Amino acid sequence: MQTEADLIVIGGGCAGLSLAMRLAARGTDCPRVAIVEPREVYIHDRSWSYWRTPGARLTHLARREWPAVHVSAGGRTISVDCCGMPYQTIDSGDFYAAAWGLIRRNTRITSFLGESVIAPPVRVAGLWRVQTSRRALQSAAVIDTRPPLESSGSPPRLWQSFSGVEIECPEGNFASDQVTLMDFEPDVRGGICFRYVLPFSATRALVEATVFSPERQTATELAPALARFVARTAAGRAIRRIRQEYHAIPMGTSEPPTVRSQGYVRVGLHHGAARAATGYAFQRIQRWADVTAERAAHGKTPAPLRADPWVTRRLDSLFLDVLCRQPESAPGLFLSLFARPDPGPVLRFLSDEARPLDFLQVMRSLPSTPFLCEALRKGL
Ligand SMILES: Cc1cc2nc3c(=O)[nH]c(=O)nc-3n(C[C@H](O)[C@H](O)[C@H](O)COP(=O)(O)OP(=O)(O)OC[C@H]3O[C@@H](n4cnc5c(N)ncnc54)[C@H](O)[C@@H]3O)c2cc1C
Repeated sequence: MQTEADLIVIGGGCAGLSLAMRLAARGTDCPRVAIVEPREVYIHDRSWSYWRTPGARLTHLARREWPAVHVSAGGRTISVDCCGMPYQTIDSGDFYAAAWGLIRRNTRITSFLGESVIAPPVRVAGLWRVQTSRRALQSAAVIDTRPPLESSGSPPRLWQSFSGVEIECPEGNFASDQVTLMDFEPDVRGGICFRYVLPFSATRALVEATVFSPERQTATELAPALARFVARTAAGRAIRRIRQEYHAIPMGTSEPPTVRSQGYVRVGLHHGAARAATGYAFQRIQRWADVTAERAAHGKTPAPLRADPWVTRRLDSLFLDVLCRQPESAPGLFLSLFARPDPGPVLRFLSDEARPLDFLQVMRSLPSTPFLCEALRKGL
């Protein structure tokens, strides 16, 4: 069985659905799209957080937003009033439902759920041929959002491994107006470890243990830290576990972010979506989807994720150098970064919306010693 399309989207996850929902919204201007996704049923498997900057997309889907976040380390706490750019979280379950609601209404999009791509796409007579577990698909363009094979590519500078659990605590009294962005702990097996809490209400919260380290940490390795953090958040009260999430996000790869060849593009978390210094990817994927949907609707070849501006890449790289070589300086570094009276420059920088002067402000916020040491070491 062979199916023809104008565009094949491999993977109906965040990147694949973000693009498909935009194309679906174009009605009859939507190209013929085929989506291949191994899942048959979607569950709420992750929460995406970001700052609601002016350029943030899909903000209407947010489950909750907070006007303040705080960073704590060594008995010191910095509260960041971010009501101008609140911290928001979207439940993936709401995103998947919204995306499929649009996609299913457009007959120009065909989805092959429960099917996997089982071989590398090949080029035959000027078209891409994609073999799934049940059929062959053919098109001029392919957007491949699968994660890479374990062994491919060079390793990232650091991994951001995190394991979290959403808890309900009927007698809870969580301070639900403020996110715990980073509450640093002494290290876990040599990494930088912190507690992250999204208090959805006084009785519901997502609690995560996050570690930045050269080696990816498994959920089992993170379990002791997570248990400690849940206990600290629940403060002795009984809890019910609602769902769990785990992942390891690559921070800073030396590979070019995307592969692009004759209408075939790889995108997604491992192909340029994760911001090197933060691992934030959701809003970067949304911006890519806007641009790519516009191009696809006009018959143009798909675009990879845009590389970050030079100054962002240099700063992120220096930041990762410091985290890799002086992990003990990380808590002080993040405290300094957020200690500014006006958080605007830092939040815009972290959200890829920095204005030229913001870069200077961010540099001025950082403690000079570790950065000078790294800059001198690299001969900058
Ligand atoms: C638990 C968790 C929390 C996160 N939190 C945040 C956050 O707070 N903020 C943020 O900015 N980012 C966050 N991220 C990072 C990032 O935004 C997500 O990983 C996002 O889902 C990446 O999108 P993607 O399309 O690259 O990957 P995915 O959404 O994982 O999509 C990849 C798709 O490829 C499909 N696939 C795999 N193999 C095949 C195959 N052989 N054939 C066809 N399809 C295949 C998969 O089934 C999947 O649907 C988080 C990630 C996770 C996992």
